[in-house]
Amino acid sequence: MAEFTMELNDEQKEVQSWLHGFAADVIRPAAAEWDEREETPWPVIQEAAKVGIYSLDFYAQQYFDPTGLGIPMAMEELFWGDAGIALSIVGTGLAAVGVLANGTEEQIGTWIPQMYGDANDVKVAAFCSSEPDAGSDVASMRTRAVYDEARDEWVLNGTKTWATNGGIANVHVVVAVVDPDLGSKGHASFIVPPNTPGLSQGQKFKKHGIRASHTAEVVLDDVRVPGSCLLGGKEKLDERLARARERAKQNGERVKNAAMATFEASRPAVGAMAVGTARAAYEVALDYATTREQFGRPIIDNQGVAFQLADMRTQIDAARLLVWRASWMAVNGKPFTAAEGSMSKLFASETAKKVTAQAIQILGGNGYTREYPVERMHRDAAIYTIFEGTSEIQRLVIARTLSGMPIR
Ligand SMILES: Cc1cc2nc3c(=O)[nH]c(=O)nc-3n(C[C@H](O)[C@H](O)[C@H](O)COP(=O)(O)OP(=O)(O)OC[C@H]3O[C@@H](n4cnc5c(N)ncnc54)[C@H](O)[C@@H]3O)c2cc1C
Repeated sequence: MAEFTMELNDEQKEVQSWLHGFAADVIRPAAAEWDEREETPWPVIQEAAKVGIYSLDFYAQQYFDPTGLGIPMAMEELFWGDAGIALSIVGTGLAAVGVLANGTEEQIGTWIPQMYGDANDVKVAAFCSSEPDAGSDVASMRTRAVYDEARDEWVLNGTKTWATNGGIANVHVVVAVVDPDLGSKGHASFIVPPNTPGLSQGQKFKKHGIRASHTAEVVLDDVRVPGSCLLGGKEKLDERLARARERAKQNGERVKNAAMATFEASRPAVGAMAVGTARAAYEVALDYATTREQFGRPIIDNQGVAFQLADMRTQIDAARLLVWRASWMAVNGKPFTAAEGSMSKLFASETAKKVTAQAIQILGGNGYTREYPVERMHRDAAIYTIFEGTSEIQRLVIARTLSGMPIR
């Protein structure tokens, strides 16, 4: 087990500086344009692919870094550049993790390269879990997967919503119900290969922030995928379902509640994205406060402004500490006895919303315009308290973990 450290090693510092350079030179200058266009920034993804940032190798290297700091460091730097573009770059990684975590070696080898494509022909992937009536309440999912034994195929039917890269992805990872009696324990994940008939994009959402990231409904109408597209394979699924049925007989409530803790290990990564956005806005505000003069002196000379900046920086550093601790715990298999993953996401996302709003205030009228980036950062920051579990759901998970009570 790697010792917990707050110090990046030399190799990590090198990667951090490389990522920061890409974020500063390529992502940040393109941010306003793609925010206005509300389209996937394919040329920027392609640039990232050319230098090796948009690739399975890079993502896996950070994901398996034993210190746990690889992913949060990378997320913070890319999202410091711009949240919408960065989500377009890392969105595929979030789908790839679904395959890395649950897939067989063959599935990993077959599908993940197709998620990324290559530098000359980049592709993206989508992870489709949320549904119109199953957001926070994952157990209410309705999309069904039924096994057609005669043809060794699964047939998927339902509507997914809010899918990042949904409908434009080369590969979709779809979560569906295989046993409706088991709540979230009766779910399984499937690969939907490129150009599979029956999968189509529904509504594309026009959003408040992260507008360079494509978010859409995905409609599954009698989508047939080979048996080999069930992540982990049929034998493993049957064993898991048998265990879940046994446990459901003994303790129904526990099965129902398990879903909310499922994402505990992936939540620090979202916390790190929020830290990146918060840090970006804080830096703009600090710079502005030291150069903008009113009443014959820089506005930072006023405690009212200086103390805000002190609080902003303190909260950003505290958020990063929680994120790094949770990431180290996740990678080193430490049990989340106080829901530390949820804690990190809750604190970092709320911090990003607060800090970006303070940044607008410090920039005054300029902060309220699109001439300066902080209003975009504030719009972007609002997503962090919503996706991968809302702030209320994080509090629910933390409170349940601490108390052992089925708090509602
Ligand atoms: C831009 C964007 C990208 C996304 N990307 C993806 C993706 O790639 N894949 C994917 O599967 N999903 C994705 N999502 C979906 C996201 O995870 C959900 O929006 C989120 O889980 C919340 O679900 P909901 O929107 O249905 O809100 P609801 O669950 O309806 O919640 C509405 C409000 O009620 C509160 N609430 C609900 N239940 C409780 C409770 N028990 N106690 C207290 N308060 C409660 C919530 O906190 C929230 O404030 C994305 C969403 C957005 C907006």
